[in-house]
Amino acid sequence: MTTPGTMQDKVVVVTGGSRGIGRAIVLAAATAGARVAFCARKLGPATDEVITQVESLAGKHRALAVAADVAIESDVEELFDAVVDRFGRVDVVVNNAGINRDALLVHTTTEAFDDVIATNLTGAFLVCRRAVREFLAQGGGGRIVSISSLSQHGATSQAAYAASKGGLLGLTRTIAKEYGHKSVVANLVTVGYVETELTQHFDEGLRRLLLEATPLRRNAKPEEIAAAVLFLASARAGYINGEAVSATGGLGEVA
Ligand code: NDP
Repeated sequence: MTTPGTMQDKVVVVTGGSRGIGRAIVLAAATAGARVAFCARKLGPATDEVITQVESLAGKHRALAVAADVAIESDVEELFDAVVDRFGRVDVVVNNAGINRDALLVHTTTEAFDDVIATNLTGAFLVCRRAVREFLAQGGGGRIVSISSLSQHGATSQAAYAASKGGLLGLTRTIAKEYGHKSVVANLVTVGYVETELTQHFDEGLRRLLLEATPLRRNAKPEEIAAAVLFLASARAGYINGEAVSATGGLGEVA
C-alpha cells in the first residue's frame, strides 16, 4: 500500500505545464498524491510525455492536459470547464505560464509589451478570477500560487516582464485581502534564475553575473521551485497569505 501524499486527491491546475518549472510542478503535485490538470498553448509530444510521467508516478487517469492560451478568456473558461468535468472540483491553482520579450525600453515594441502583459498578467487575472469563482462555489477554501520573478522589482531589459510580474504581486495581495475571509489563500513564489527555454537567450556574461551574485553559487533546479510551490499549496502553509516567498538561492536584485 502506498502512503498518502501531502496533496492526496487534491485537484491541482497548473498553467504552462509542458516544460520547465511548470512541468516540475505537475510532477511534484502528482508525486504528492494530487490529480493534476495542466495547459499549454499546444498539445504534442511534450505534453504526452508529461502525462506518461504522471501515470508512471501516480497511476492512470490522474492527469489531464488541455490546450489553452491563458491570454484568451474563452480558453481559460474551457480549461476550468474541462477540469471540473473530469475531476469534479478545483483545490489549487498554479499560475506558472509566462513569457518574456527582453529589450531595453526604447527598443520594446508595443506589440511585445502587450504580448508579455497578456500572458503573464491578464492570463493570471483570468485564471485567478475563474479559480476564485470555483472556490466560492465550492463553499470557500482553495489556494493560488503564482510564479513571480526577482524582476518584479524592476530589471534592465525587462520593462514588460518586470511590469507583468510587479502586477502579479498586486493581484495576489488583492486576492488575499478580498477572499481571505472565505479561506481562499494566494501567494507568490519569487524565482531567481533557472535554466529553461525562457532563459535560453541569456548571454554568457549575464549567466556569469547571476551565478556570481547568487550566494549558493548555483542555479535552481526546476524541482526546487516546485518544492516551494507545493509547500505553499499544501495545508502546512495554511496561515501564509498574500506573501512573496523567495526561492532565489539568496540572489537579490542584480541588474
Ligand atoms: P518555459 O518557457 O520553460 O515554460 C513556459 C511554459 O508556459 C510552457 O509550458 C509554455 O508552453 C507555457 N506557456 C507560455 N505561454 C503560455 C500561454 N499564453 N498560455 C498557456 N501556456 C503558456 O519557462 P519557465 O519554466 O522558465 O517559466 C515558468 C514561470 O517561471 C514563468 O512564469 C516565468 O516567468 C517564471 N520564472 C522563470 C525564471 C527562470 O529563470 N526560468 C525566473 C523567474 C520566474 P507553450 O509554449 O506550449 O504554451
